[in-house]
Amino acid sequence: EIPIITVDGPSGAGKGTLCQKLAQYYGFHLLDSGAIYRIAALAVCNLQVSIEDESAVLRVIETLDIQFKTVDQKIAVFLDGKEVSSQIRTERVGMAASKIAALGNVRAALLERQRHFAQSPGLIADGRDMGTTVFPNADVKVFLTATAEERARRRYQQLLSSGVDADFEAILSDIQLRDEQDSKRAVSPLKACTSAVSIDSSEMTIDAVFEKIVEYADS
Ligand code: C5P
Repeated sequence: EIPIITVDGPSGAGKGTLCQKLAQYYGFHLLDSGAIYRIAALAVCNLQVSIEDESAVLRVIETLDIQFKTVDQKIAVFLDGKEVSSQIRTERVGMAASKIAALGNVRAALLERQRHFAQSPGLIADGRDMGTTVFPNADVKVFLTATAEERARRRYQQLLSSGVDADFEAILSDIQLRDEQDSKRAVSPLKACTSAVSIDSSEMTIDAVFEKIVEYADS
């Protein structure tokens, strides 16, 4: 049995940083499932397929050529052999990812691809439905949340420190809108998992969250 730790929660809760730390600490593989949805969305956009055309979207996803490679402790993402690491992080691709992620057939088509990441010596899986749907038998399940204000503040800091001009109020209203959209859609992947340990990171540093999970996982 491959050991698996799942970390689910809304965007901006700190999952990405946390999962990188966990993967490094345990020496495990890392699955960034949001990146898979983003790459799928980018491929759909590049091929100028309409997101409304579900069967065309599915055809793109079935033949998707995705690769993840670790370069200088960072994960680089490739679509059809071309690096798209920063391209998939744009707001446009994020919105498209969120739209195709609402299609049940798309989620089903991406299931096996995600499960392939569970390889020796172990896996840290980052997403929305890792503990509920993709890896229901995971050894440790974490549900990480933070208030919308705190998630907006972190995103704002992240943009500023990467030299991008940012507007806090605009970021906050985007996050609130996305939360509302996500909670209303028919296929809402983000459900609190009864067997998960729930952590609100609003008033904790990600380092403190990391310590808490390691202590829990190793006990
Ligand atoms: O986490 P990230 O913002 O990269 O995810 C991009 C989009 O993919 C999210 O807005 C969400 O709608 C979708 N997603 C999902 N299930 C996952 C991971 C991401 O539906 N496991």
